[in-house]
Amino acid sequence: MPKKSKLSTPAWILEGFNSEAEYNKKKGIKNKPKAKAGEEFYVKVCPQCRSKDVNVVIGEVGAWECKKCNWKGRSIEEEAVLEEEYFKIIERMEGK
Ligand SMILES: [Zn+2]
Repeated sequence: MPKKSKLSTPAWILEGFNSEAEYNKKKGIKNKPKAKAGEEFYVKVCPQCRSKDVNVVIGEVGAWECKKCNWKGRSIEEEAVLEEEYFKIIERMEGK
């Protein structure tokens, strides 16, 4: 029988800190911001027709094109969307 891993006890407990936050502060560890439900994400939108159906132009650094109105350029804009919509867009961009 293999011994149970000690990893189940967080380091901050083993080292006698009162909380994980205190431990992280001492060690200089910064917590990654956690995404909350309904939190806003930013997606690229076409500056001309506000469509989110935009893609980077292959072979042109920093250039974008809109599939809807055929706009092409570098002045792409961003729009805040909710998490749910954001992941739908990501999935679509990855062609799922
Ligand atoms: Zn457009």
